[in-house]
Amino acid sequence: MNEHREGAPGRVKEVTSLANPLIKSIKSLALKKFRDQQHAFMAEGLKLVIDALDLGWSIRTLVFAKAGLGNPAVEKVAARTVAAGGTVLEVSEKVLSAITRRDNPQMVVGVFAQRYLPLKEIRPQNGEVWVALDRVRDPGNLGTIIRTVDAVGAKGIILVGDTTDPFSLETVRATMGSVFAVPVSRATPEAFLAWRKDFPGLVAGTHLKGAVDYRSVDFSGRPVLLLMGNEQQGLPDVLAQSCDRLLRIPQAGRADSLNLAVATGVMLFEIRRSALTLGAED
Ligand code: SAM
Repeated sequence: MNEHREGAPGRVKEVTSLANPLIKSIKSLALKKFRDQQHAFMAEGLKLVIDALDLGWSIRTLVFAKAGLGNPAVEKVAARTVAAGGTVLEVSEKVLSAITRRDNPQMVVGVFAQRYLPLKEIRPQNGEVWVALDRVRDPGNLGTIIRTVDAVGAKGIILVGDTTDPFSLETVRATMGSVFAVPVSRATPEAFLAWRKDFPGLVAGTHLKGAVDYRSVDFSGRPVLLLMGNEQQGLPDVLAQSCDRLLRIPQAGRADSLNLAVATGVMLFEIRRSALTLGAED
């Protein structure tokens, strides 16, 4: 049974049944098919939802546990959701667990509209760093890379070819909120290669057969596009050939290669080295 209550923090629907159609629709966002249909995704946690609203993301539904009632921060976020035309649902912990597929869910879950930056709108300026990921498969890798791009102050990510979904629960969790701060674009390999032709700076690919030590390159004074290969196969020839340089991170020991997210992190900190200083975090 659903009850509808009027009053602060705005119109709140109380829902305790997993059979409620609103809950079923939110639960379905665990699957890509339904995320695509609804152009929506879930983000867990009060801080994340507040950050997303502050960054101008459009909230469709706010779900919060009964325990959040009377919490001023939760009520404020609920009021912002209603003001933005969204729906607020007060639910039992059982419902929240089912939505997030977790035993100890966060008190708050937000459902947001997905957002992709059209590739043609990316016109890199001097000093900007963009990251292109070829067919990234692992949600943890993608989430970690989005978080790292945010942390180093790179501009955004281009997903090339068939990749894991940046809006899956697992990826969003791994971004730790950076999914709201980092623009994500997507392109077929053909569209990417066409766009790359006009890239006004250095296109730096990474490759296990790269002949150039990544520390020997001067990345300053021009836009940089860092191109990373697929976890299993690395960069296909057509993408590798489109790079100005193919860089390698020297390794010792028995490992054949670095994990994709680790290699991206190593590269990004080198490319952004002169821009990053302690005490300048803001
Ligand atoms: N078996 C794959 C191959 O042969 O390329 C390994 C791919 S590796 C796990 C995933 C990506 O991380 C690579 O395509 C490359 O972009 C980057 N990478 C990993 N280790 C690297 C290294 N030592 N030097 C340069 N790039 C590296």
